[in-house]
Amino acid sequence: MPGSEFQIIEKYFSAPEQVSRSDLVQGIGDDCAVVAPQEQSNLAFSIDTLISGVHFPHNTSPAAIAYKALAVNLSDLAAMGAEPAWFTLSLTLPKESSELSSREAWLQEFSQSLFSLAREHNINLIGGDTTHGPLAVTIQICGYLPKQGGLKRSGARVGDIIAVTGPLGAAAIGLDIALQQNKSHYGCLSETGKQFALHALNYPQARITEGLSLQNIAHAALDLSDGLLSDLGHILTASDVGAELKLEKLPLAPSLICLDKEFAWEKALTGGDDYELCFTLAEEDWSKISKKHPEFIAIGTIVSQKGLRLLKADGQEHIIDSGGYDHFG
Ligand code: ADP
Ligand code: MG
Repeated sequence: MPGSEFQIIEKYFSAPEQVSRSDLVQGIGDDCAVVAPQEQSNLAFSIDTLISGVHFPHNTSPAAIAYKALAVNLSDLAAMGAEPAWFTLSLTLPKESSELSSREAWLQEFSQSLFSLAREHNINLIGGDTTHGPLAVTIQICGYLPKQGGLKRSGARVGDIIAVTGPLGAAAIGLDIALQQNKSHYGCLSETGKQFALHALNYPQARITEGLSLQNIAHAALDLSDGLLSDLGHILTASDVGAELKLEKLPLAPSLICLDKEFAWEKALTGGDDYELCFTLAEEDWSKISKKHPEFIAIGTIVSQKGLRLLKADGQEHIIDSGGYDHFG
């Protein structure tokens, strides 16, 4: 890479404020990174790319882009019950004065946000690549998984409770607000409510400790990136079972409670980017885990009849027209 790019890495990514991990042999600065993993564990890998205008609106702040790029990767590890350790970063940056008004200021804000989240999780940026082109950020993450562990999508059993780690739909509402869409629905929202939704979109919380808690308890788990209906569909397909969801149980964030109920349900069911975990587990384990994690919410049951049914409080089935889910009965 050209000299100026090397200076970028030196200045913004060889951060002395990085945590020091005993299982890192060689970090940024040589041809490869080298790690010395604990022998008693397996390693879990995940990679995600965020492209400007596709995965985040063009006007998203560099701090939010960095945070989200790392958080979505952390979320994949959380969904397996893994403990994050190291990550690499491939950064594609537009040339100066095109998409980025000030490259230096952009990189400063981006790297500060990245390292701040990395420190929170005690993980190291160990290498990467830097190129020119339309703005895109790829992070690959790696973490530890117990040899016999790992929360798969395929283990859901008939009779299991279906639960999520927190409220749903806020990120999709944040996206509407960022793109000024569906305005007529949001008249009741206060400024605080709007900021809450935008924050949910830009700063998703990876449920790492929750994923670790679910290790050896949940029968199946994944993180909600594409929307509950679509993602729960992956569990149902992989496990060869069906599900019933109780609409009145769908957890909506308190700040968004003024919204029309059916509209909010639709956001909770089909909106992406929430990054809560969705998992299934035996009824007796639900009562134990919900004492430890009172924020977890049971939303339905795994059943033998294939497909997914949405039930209203009176037991009537509710049909929604916007899709994302292609496994209906
Ligand atoms: P090479 O040409 O051998 O691929 P590079 O010149 O691309 O090496 O990178 C030099 C060093 O800087 C390597 O250790 C690489 O991992 C690291 N690096 C490059 N870009 C980034 C980045 N965006 N973030 C972190 N480390 C990076
Ligand atoms: Mg390179």
